[in-house]
Amino acid sequence: MKIVKTVKKMQSLSEGLRLRGQRIAFVPTMGYFHDGHISLMKEARKIADCVVVSIYVNPTQFGPKEDFSKYPRDLDRDLKMADSANVDVIFYPSNREMYPAYYQTYVDVEKVTQNLCGMSRPGHFRGVTTVCSKLFNIVKPHVAIFGKKDFQQFITIKRMVDDLNMDLQILGFPTVREADGLAMSSRNQYLSKEERLSALTLFQALKSAQRMYRKGERKSSEIIDQAERLIERAPFTKIDYVKICDTKTLKDIQNIKGESVMALAVKVGKTRLIDNHVFGDELKI
Ligand code: AMP
Repeated sequence: MKIVKTVKKMQSLSEGLRLRGQRIAFVPTMGYFHDGHISLMKEARKIADCVVVSIYVNPTQFGPKEDFSKYPRDLDRDLKMADSANVDVIFYPSNREMYPAYYQTYVDVEKVTQNLCGMSRPGHFRGVTTVCSKLFNIVKPHVAIFGKKDFQQFITIKRMVDDLNMDLQILGFPTVREADGLAMSSRNQYLSKEERLSALTLFQALKSAQRMYRKGERKSSEIIDQAERLIERAPFTKIDYVKICDTKTLKDIQNIKGESVMALAVKVGKTRLIDNHVFGDELKI
């Protein structure tokens, strides 16, 4: 496995691969790997000649009061895990490499970023779309792979790639969960033992939404009320949002018809967790 730290070297490596007709699959990450990340690397492995994974905690997607400086990092562990997943190249740039002096260009996707996490994390998606545009220009992948755990991120990136005619395919894969249903996240390690128990209510709320939907309930407010009650019952929880949206526009909907997603963000202690469920999909552990 190669480790590349500069933009120039990554670009020339990718250019060489492309000239030799090799297909490049790319998995952008912020590191501190768990099985969710590994599942994406394995999907990449199935469809490409060369699998590139970036590890970069992107400062522009964190708000001033968010956890940028304490975001978990463990490069040695990540390298071992990526190597075991048969990754070919790790792109591991510095902040200076990504945002040199005089940097001033940003990419903004307007509408799908307004609701959900866009409301409580202003500027977050602008940072995500900017860094992904840069990474796509650096890694030059044929396909980039994202987790649907970050559903709004996935929809936003797809929108950007379509709108800007970027010449790559975006694929999304299902959320990988712990044995009890908690969505895997690098941030789960912030949780105390008691908070970890409360964090399970996110999954339970989605399960209850799925049950109500299967029984024929289509009124968003009924499903949301029930989910909120479940979450509020658990200690340490503070709801940021529980919403049901159209999966294309990510606008709130009153009644479920067409493809719809229930998305939630909950603070458990100081840790903000997100999860979602697309009605009609499986909600698998
Ligand atoms: P992150 O390092 O958290 O920025 O995530 C990197 C990629 O992994 C993103 O595409 C995430 O959506 C994806 N991801 C994170 N957690 C999970 C999970 N539990 N299951 C599947 N994909 C995930």
